[in-house]
Amino acid sequence: MRGTFVLSLDTELAWGSFDKSFGPKLVRAAQWENREGIPRLLDLLCGHHISATWAFVGHATLDHCTGHPEMEPVGYDWYSGDWFQHDPASDELRHPEWYARSCFLKVLRAPYPQEIGFHSFSHVIFGNPGTPRKRAIQEFAACRAIAREFEIQGDAFVFPRNRAGFLDELREAGFRTIRARDMSPIHTRYSAANNVLGVLADFFALAPLAVSPYLDHGLVALPGSLMLRAMDGWRRLIPLRARRARIMKGIDRCIREGAIFHLWLHPINLYREEGKMFELLEECCECVSLLRDRGDLRVATMGETAEKYLASIEQGTKMICASA
Ligand SMILES: [Zn+2]
Repeated sequence: MRGTFVLSLDTELAWGSFDKSFGPKLVRAAQWENREGIPRLLDLLCGHHISATWAFVGHATLDHCTGHPEMEPVGYDWYSGDWFQHDPASDELRHPEWYARSCFLKVLRAPYPQEIGFHSFSHVIFGNPGTPRKRAIQEFAACRAIAREFEIQGDAFVFPRNRAGFLDELREAGFRTIRARDMSPIHTRYSAANNVLGVLADFFALAPLAVSPYLDHGLVALPGSLMLRAMDGWRRLIPLRARRARIMKGIDRCIREGAIFHLWLHPINLYREEGKMFELLEECCECVSLLRDRGDLRVATMGETAEKYLASIEQGTKMICASA
């Protein structure tokens, strides 16, 4: 059978974790992501003729800003103060950890086409009651405005921390596709247990699941199969060979089942052990391009996957109508 490989990238600079820990470590990693990580990853993908979905935090696509007083405040129990208190209201030259217009343009004009999607405007947590509806709508609208400015479709959305919320508002804003939570080979109804099981799955290199899209609130939801974790803290203990094995098993399984292997990662997480992480991705890209050239694998973006799925629904409806 023929499988499909989808890669989505949560491209967020310092926006992705400033609320958990903000300091020189995060700034260094985010500056690296802007200057080295994103360009290197883009070169790797284009070199192998692989299109990925780059889910940008909208603010990270700006080259400057002057603050955001119009944005409805959020209130979370783990973070005090204004959400934009670290935003320097400056520009990419001075603060490449918050602004990466140059990277956004590189992805937009890449020699091999890439899909631009969004990861919210400022990485607020939509599934949390501390995010008011008004702010959610503002976040979606700010992303759509960027898409309009650059005349791109930009209708794939990845929720920060995969905490979905305001799906009707997201659809009404013009988005069409979302990344749903990962489907895990071992799963319980308790989220804390699932986190532990997810870590064990990495250590023991369990085969990730092949996934299929479905409709959720009128949006095409594509679950993740596997998140490639950073090599920092305890995550360094996950052996490289187990990481490699999981990716290869995921590719193998999607071909056997004629389904989708949806790999995702945060480019900022390639900073630690950069050499090893890129070596792993290089192997992955080589394998994907080889199987694609052999006709066993198709490479698709989230948007292309949604298009194909919607076309198949339409075709199915036509067939039912015709036979009725
Ligand atoms: Zn700003």
